[in-house]
Amino acid sequence: MTRHQVIVVGAGAAGLMAAGRAAELGGETLLLEKMNRPGRKLCITGKGRCNLTNVAPLSDFITRFGPNGQFLRQAFSRFFSAELVALFEELGVPTVTERGGRVFPVSGQAREVVDALVHWVRKRGVTLRTRSPVERLLVEGGRVVGVQVSPNRVHRSDTVIIATGGASYPATGSTGDGYRLAQSVGHTIVPIRPALVPLETAGDIAPRLQGLSLRNVAVRVWVNGKKQAEAFGEMLFTHFGVSGPIILALSRQVVDALRSGQRVTLSIDLKLALDERRLDARLLRDLDAHGKQQFHTLLKDLLPRKLIPVCIDLVGIPPNRDAHQITAQERERLRIWLKDFRLEVTGHRSFTEAIITAGGVDTREVDPRTMASRLAEGLYLAGEVLDVDGDTGGFNLQAAFSTGWLAGRAAARWAAR
Ligand SMILES: Cc1cc2nc3c(=O)[nH]c(=O)nc-3n(C[C@H](O)[C@H](O)[C@H](O)COP(=O)(O)OP(=O)(O)OC[C@H]3O[C@@H](n4cnc5c(N)ncnc54)[C@H](O)[C@@H]3O)c2cc1C
Repeated sequence: MTRHQVIVVGAGAAGLMAAGRAAELGGETLLLEKMNRPGRKLCITGKGRCNLTNVAPLSDFITRFGPNGQFLRQAFSRFFSAELVALFEELGVPTVTERGGRVFPVSGQAREVVDALVHWVRKRGVTLRTRSPVERLLVEGGRVVGVQVSPNRVHRSDTVIIATGGASYPATGSTGDGYRLAQSVGHTIVPIRPALVPLETAGDIAPRLQGLSLRNVAVRVWVNGKKQAEAFGEMLFTHFGVSGPIILALSRQVVDALRSGQRVTLSIDLKLALDERRLDARLLRDLDAHGKQQFHTLLKDLLPRKLIPVCIDLVGIPPNRDAHQITAQERERLRIWLKDFRLEVTGHRSFTEAIITAGGVDTREVDPRTMASRLAEGLYLAGEVLDVDGDTGGFNLQAAFSTGWLAGRAAARWAAR
């Protein structure tokens, strides 16, 4: 049996930050990680480049987390993107800001971020133990007094920080253990759902378009016939459906609608830059100028190659018809389809492919100023285990770092009392 002031469960973004901060304030800290090395998920973030934060202002950050964004205000007010960038600079990891305010390490290596954090926590005196899955919280008289790693390995402490992440990409170690640990002391778990997740669509359209990436399109989400959300940018077709930045961004609303049994349709606007009137004028001009060309040849100027056979099938104009023979109704059908290419959503991919987990420990049961549990003394929670999920763009890692920093500080101070 060992004894520490602070035990941190999980050496991901939130856990490494919490442990480093607690130790910096003099807390004797033990960091327990169940995998054979720390930061496995961090290593694959940002396609291996780690988009560690965003330079967006605080008010914008908060809106990126939907209804629960307000919970993060205190954490962001105390340790935000500028402080994070300064810390990494100090740790020898200079950063660069790219399109959309996304911040990456200059090296483009997520590994460097993990190595720097591990080096930092060790230098501050944190004891890091890998292959140490926490199975149980030790509770005495309503107070958390340590953790049990295996039947005969018990670590006692003044405080415990749960930083076990969510349930997505479980191969990285984030298998949802934290929900069970928090539940054991009475915390409510808001039902967890995959978020920032690819969507499955009906029929053979997506498989036929597999690999096709569309830029500068708008995607609108229709739920039971009502427009509910919209995003502009890039999307991708896969063998099962659709993915890419704007699909992931819209997936939160789609997953929730599907789960409540509603019918979800995606409408893709392939000609975002042209309104109906200007698109019609463009079609008329093309049909006039190339009257002798066949319909399918004409489409080459309008659509990516892979989309042409799909367009022909869905619009129902014979591919060999000469342009000058295309009727006004057929032109209208084409125009409508180009602005409103519909795909029926049948489902979403699982946690295995979800960038993050929505749902988690109910934030009403956690003090936003300290990340302390309101239910069990000595317990703190940080990172994705909480019911907070944000957009892509560095927002989720900043939330993990900010809540980790706050929890580490509060736990060390509490233990030192
Ligand atoms: C493919 C992918 C790319 C992403 N890219 C980005 C990006 O570029 N920018 C961004 O902001 N966000 C990104 N995210 C999201 C981001 O990675 C997470 O939001 C963030 O890692 C959450 O941090 P965390 O510390 O809460 O959890 P995690 O990073 O998941 O860490 C939790 C740790 O706890 C350990 N653990 C779990 N259970 C136990 C236990 N019982 N005992 C001991 N240890 C345990 C796990 O092994 C893990 O190491 C990405 C996610 C994925 C999957």
